[in-house]
Amino acid sequence: MTAIRKEILSNTKRVLVKIGSGVLTGKNGLDPQIIEQLVDEIAELTSKGYHIVIVTSGAIASGKHRMGITGKLKSIPLKQAAAAIGQGRLMRLYSNAFGKHGLYVAQVLLTISDITDRKRFLNIRNTFSTLMDWKVITIINENDTVAIDEIKFGDNDNLAAMVASIIDAHLLINLTSVEGLYDSNPAHSKKAKLIPLVREITEEIEAAAAEEGTAEGTGGMKSKVMAAKKVTALGIPYIIAMGKEKGILQSVISGKEKGTLFLPMNKHLKSRKYWIAFTLKSRGKLFLDEGAQKAILEEGKSLLPSGVMKVEGRFDTGDPITCVDAEGKPIAKGLANYSSSEIMQIKGLKTNQIEQILGYKDYDEIIHRNNMVLTKE
Ligand code: GLU
Repeated sequence: MTAIRKEILSNTKRVLVKIGSGVLTGKNGLDPQIIEQLVDEIAELTSKGYHIVIVTSGAIASGKHRMGITGKLKSIPLKQAAAAIGQGRLMRLYSNAFGKHGLYVAQVLLTISDITDRKRFLNIRNTFSTLMDWKVITIINENDTVAIDEIKFGDNDNLAAMVASIIDAHLLINLTSVEGLYDSNPAHSKKAKLIPLVREITEEIEAAAAEEGTAEGTGGMKSKVMAAKKVTALGIPYIIAMGKEKGILQSVISGKEKGTLFLPMNKHLKSRKYWIAFTLKSRGKLFLDEGAQKAILEEGKSLLPSGVMKVEGRFDTGDPITCVDAEGKPIAKGLANYSSSEIMQIKGLKTNQIEQILGYKDYDEIIHRNNMVLTKE
């Protein structure tokens, strides 16, 4: 075991395991044997005191197979219908396999709109925590049958990154059909080498992961690395490993050098700030002058009306918005204390002029520092 893995894994108890469609399926659709193999491992880890939560794919792949369709499903209604068929079967296989170990499973199907609302986010968090207290294995998937583009996580790599934040996971293991991240695409080059450790997600790392998804799953290595960015920003270590390999979870958790480990960032975001930075979709832009940029980037200050030069988009009080520099490059994201039409009227002004113009002043700041995250690269 390398010293780094030992250190990372030393206090790991709450583990999120994401299982990709490519792992769960064989020639005949969902493969009950591989599901049993993984479930046996998870049950053993549970008996050793680990809390394992699962994000699973495989609903669409299973439904598709049931309908005798090969290749990628092209339209959204086809995918949604396939997911409706496959999700039940997927859960039945998990439920049967965990049942052999005397463990119950709970199904949670999410769309992104379930977690962009702070209250619902906190409710879901409480539900997860109760399920964990009850030692029930929570199995999560995107609610594919109802999710349309605007409310989609996109792929289960992203869903897993969001769930890691909700449950405060100590580790996220992303089980996939390759051994980890390679320095070039192993499907195209025999010289491709596995990268065992990523300290920082640089441009080279992103370039190494440029390929898209397969016919079975939605995400490819690219979406796994995008998820790594989010997860490591939360201070959570992230490991991509080969899901079909026997004993893979035991190996990873016991610190064997398997797959690719992405180290957590030292200065990581608290859950609420993570929610602002990654979960919420921005509704508008504020162009800031140089003074405001400096105050935010270097002095840890809030955003005041005086620093806003231009407003773009229509948004309400409380909506997430992006602060950009004069060229439109993002600097920060945060929750607006005033609506876009109010900011149009008070931009460039001193705080003591707000009331004069609007007839009221609920806040001095346009975005309070507590509701702001720096996003400059
Ligand atoms: N939610 C999809 C399913 O269960 C999988 C999405 C993905 O592979 O990223 O089929």
